[in-house]
Amino acid sequence: MNEQANLLESSTKNLWLPFTQMKDYESDPLIIESGEGIILKDISGKEYLDGYSSLWLNVHGHRKKELNEAIIEQLDLIAHSTLLGAANVPAIRLAEKLIEITPENLQRVFYSDSGATSVEIAIKMAYQYWQNKGKQKKKKFVTLTNNYHGDTIGAISIGNVDLFHRVYGSLMFPTIKAPFPLQYRSPYSGEAEVKERALTELRAIFQEHHEEIAAITLEPLIQGAGGMNIMPGGYLKGVEELCREFNILLIVDEVATGFGRTGKMFAIEHEGVQPDIMTVAKGITGGYLPLAATLATEEIYKEFYGEYQEMKTFFHGHSYTGNQLGCAVALANLKIYEKEKLVEQAAKKAEVIKSELAALKRLKHAGDIRQLGLMCGIELVQDKKTGKPFPWETRMGYHSTLEMRKRGMLTRPLGDVIVFMPPLASSDDQIRKMVQIMRDAIEAVTEKEKTVV
Ligand code: PMP
Repeated sequence: MNEQANLLESSTKNLWLPFTQMKDYESDPLIIESGEGIILKDISGKEYLDGYSSLWLNVHGHRKKELNEAIIEQLDLIAHSTLLGAANVPAIRLAEKLIEITPENLQRVFYSDSGATSVEIAIKMAYQYWQNKGKQKKKKFVTLTNNYHGDTIGAISIGNVDLFHRVYGSLMFPTIKAPFPLQYRSPYSGEAEVKERALTELRAIFQEHHEEIAAITLEPLIQGAGGMNIMPGGYLKGVEELCREFNILLIVDEVATGFGRTGKMFAIEHEGVQPDIMTVAKGITGGYLPLAATLATEEIYKEFYGEYQEMKTFFHGHSYTGNQLGCAVALANLKIYEKEKLVEQAAKKAEVIKSELAALKRLKHAGDIRQLGLMCGIELVQDKKTGKPFPWETRMGYHSTLEMRKRGMLTRPLGDVIVFMPPLASSDDQIRKMVQIMRDAIEAVTEKEKTVV
C-alpha cells in the first residue's frame, strides 16, 4: 500500500472527527497536507481555496512569514510555562495590546485556549461576580434563540441551536430564552419593527426577572453557527441600554466576529457598545495556535480581589492558559494588522464580496444572502417566493459544499446555509473565483432534477 492509500485508510480507522458523521467522511475522505496563502493542498496534490478560513480563523493565509518567525523566535526562549501564579512576557505584552484595541472599559485579560473555554470563563466570572458582590439571587442567564458559543457544557447551555444541543437537554443548565430578531421570514414589516418587537420582549423579561438575572450572552451583530443571522441596526445598542437600566451584565462573544471579520476590529464597534465581558479567540493568533481570552471591566475584577480567606478568588485555569507560543504569535499577528491596515482592507474586501454575491441572488434556490464584512451565509430554499426550506433529508447544503470541493474550494454548510468566510488576506481575484465556484456548485446541485439524498 502506498503512503497516500495508507493515510486514507488510517484516517478512517483511527480518527473521530469533530462535527462529522464519520460515514460521510468515509465516502469522501479529505486529508490536508500543506497550505500556502489561502490555498490548501491535500495529500494527492489537489488544491483548494480556503473558503472557510480553516473554520473561521485564518487571517493572513497559511505560512505567513512573520508568524512562522515569531513562533521560532519564541521557541528559542521557551515554549510554555504555567500562568497559574506566574506571568510570562508575551502574555503581558499581549494583554496590553488587547486592552488597547478593545473598548476602554475592558481592563483585564483572562487567558484560555479555545472559544468555548473563553465562554465558560465568561459564564463563571459573571456568576461569581454577583456572588462575591453579595447579590446571591442573580444566577440566571438570558440567551437568544439560535445562539452558539462552543461545545462544552456551559457553552451549550447558553447556546440554542436545536440540532446540536437537543440531545444534551438534561445536561444543560436552564436559561431564560429571548427571541433573536430574525429578519428573514419575519412576519413584521421591516428591520425597525423586528428590532422594536424583540427589544420589547427582552424588556419584559428583564422587568420580570432582573433580580435573578446575572447576564445576557450574545454574538454581536451576527450569529455564526446559528445560521449567519444579522441583527437589525440598533438592536445591540438597545440591549446594552436595557442591561444598564436593569443592572444586568452584557457578555458579548466576539470569538467569530473579532479581529476585523465584520469590517471593524470588533463587531461591537459598529454600534459603539461597551460590554462588561467579552470573549475572543479564533483570529487572535491569525489562525495559527489555540489561544483565547476573556476580557472584563475593572469593576468585575475588583470583586474578585481581596484576602485569600474571603474566598473571592477565581478558581479557574487551564494547563495551557496564556501559552507563550500562542501569545507570541498573537502579538506578531496584531502587528501585521497595524502594518497592513488590515481592518480597513477587510472593509474594502467586504465591498468586493458584496458586489460578487449580488450575482448569486439570481440563483433559483438562493432564498436569502446575508453578509456582514467577510462573514456571509447563503440560505438555500426550495421555494424562493415563500422561503419554504428544502426537505431536511435532501441535504442541499452538504451536497453543494461537496460539489464546491470537487471544483477546488472548501467550506462547510450550516444545514442549508452555505458559509462563506474567506481569510481577510484573500485577493479580489480569489474572492471572484470562490463566488463563481459557489454559484456553479449551488446551481449544479439544487437545480438537478432529482437530488441524491
Ligand atoms: N463562540 C462563537 C461565536 C463561535 O463561532 C465559536 C466557534 N465557531 C465558539 C464560540 C467556539 O470556539 P472554539 O471552537 O474555539 O471552542
